[in-house]
Amino acid sequence: MSEIGRILNATVENFKEDILIESFSINSKDIRKNAMFIPLKGNRFDGHDFIDQAIDNGALCFLTQKDVIAKKDCPYLKVDDTLKAMQNLACAYREKRKDLVVIGITGSVGKTTTKEYIYNVLSTTYNTYKNQGNYNNHIGLPYSILNIPDKTEIAVLEMGMSNFGEISFLSKISKPDIGVITNIGVAHIENLKTRYNIFLAKSEIQDGMPSSSLLVINNDNDILHSHRNELKRRVVTIGIENDSDFMAKDIQKAANGFYFVVDSYKYFIETFNFHDIYNSLFAIAVGIILGIDREAIAQGIMKKDGLKRRFEVIKKGDITVIDDTYNASTHSMISAIDSVCNFEGKKILVLGDMLELGSLSEQEHRKVGSYIVTKPIDVVICTGQDAFYIFDQVRKNEKIKSYFVSKEECLDILQKELEGGSVVLFKASRGVKLDELVDNFLRGL
Ligand code: ATP
Ligand code: MG
Repeated sequence: MSEIGRILNATVENFKEDILIESFSINSKDIRKNAMFIPLKGNRFDGHDFIDQAIDNGALCFLTQKDVIAKKDCPYLKVDDTLKAMQNLACAYREKRKDLVVIGITGSVGKTTTKEYIYNVLSTTYNTYKNQGNYNNHIGLPYSILNIPDKTEIAVLEMGMSNFGEISFLSKISKPDIGVITNIGVAHIENLKTRYNIFLAKSEIQDGMPSSSLLVINNDNDILHSHRNELKRRVVTIGIENDSDFMAKDIQKAANGFYFVVDSYKYFIETFNFHDIYNSLFAIAVGIILGIDREAIAQGIMKKDGLKRRFEVIKKGDITVIDDTYNASTHSMISAIDSVCNFEGKKILVLGDMLELGSLSEQEHRKVGSYIVTKPIDVVICTGQDAFYIFDQVRKNEKIKSYFVSKEECLDILQKELEGGSVVLFKASRGVKLDELVDNFLRGL
């Protein structure tokens, strides 16, 4: 605790004897062993109101930016801003853990999935840590870093952004030894205006990376492919189409996944999504770079542990429900539609808005609609605002039945269209909350 006090330039109040802090918590209900509680001020709640609860739940000490009348005997540190303090502390902790290898992952889509694949590969051989769920921003990332256990050898950290400067900030805290850029899409184009700007924003991952470090990028992504020479670290490429350092060849589709060959070694991944070949190629590349043998890598990538609501396939009798409501952008919509086409039976899409596309929104929704009409899809049910443009493209085609309805009406239409053996995909941006529909639909089946 006194070391933390020195880092933050704060004196320990209620000091009795020094204490060893082994975990950090920002949630008073989730206090682990020998924890320091860090109250954060949010829009709806102020963590400072829960300091007593955190202590009751076992926190040994806490930070505060307010004058508090603390419970007797509980030491604390007064700082100007608890969030900044947490970020500074994470930075200092990373600095101290020079032994640690950090893998930083950014990109428009596929970060969490790639993180899981990389984690699964590295944990076959090393003591590996990953940030939980989607803890990838200016709060989640420092929180995740502070909780890296002593025995961890490699930390796999996802970094998200919605504007310039954010990845730079996260990279300077986490100082990745290997950076991964999954792809450059159109997510957050509302803030960044062009895809090249999105590339520049993702490239900020280099800002905290030592000069000897390396970047692994998707060489089939048009923007990454054409601008890779602008990157300032050594670049390693993965791909299927363009000649790359780690290239998947001889791709074969099986009932439950894909076989492919990289450098004459055959791998299998259990998945319905072709794009997971890219996500798992990153894990193969990082695994080989870190000296993991190919048998272990093959074992590691074989299974994709259930990522909730990311193309989650749920069987109910003879109906297949695909819950992909976690998020959506043009890239992942098209990828999901491709994957649905690999299923037998009547194919029904329930699609909502892709948000945050700014002035490109109409064009991108129309792109999805135009794509659908080239595919063997039977019914499309669109709901929301800009999802109208998906509908508007699809309705020009007589082979596909299309609807544009309110969210409340979706399930009635769906029930009407449902037949034995149908496969139903639900997909939209997270803000649309299409997951509520999936849960209601599943309850009714
Ligand atoms: P977020 O920005 O919300 O953290 P993310 O980058 O972590 O998203 P995932 O959660 O891995 O991305 O996946 C989000 C959606 O994109 C899912 O629907 C998933 O099936 C799809 N997806 C994952 N990887 C790819 C990829 N390489 N190409 C296209 N779509 C993908
Ligand atoms: Mg994510």
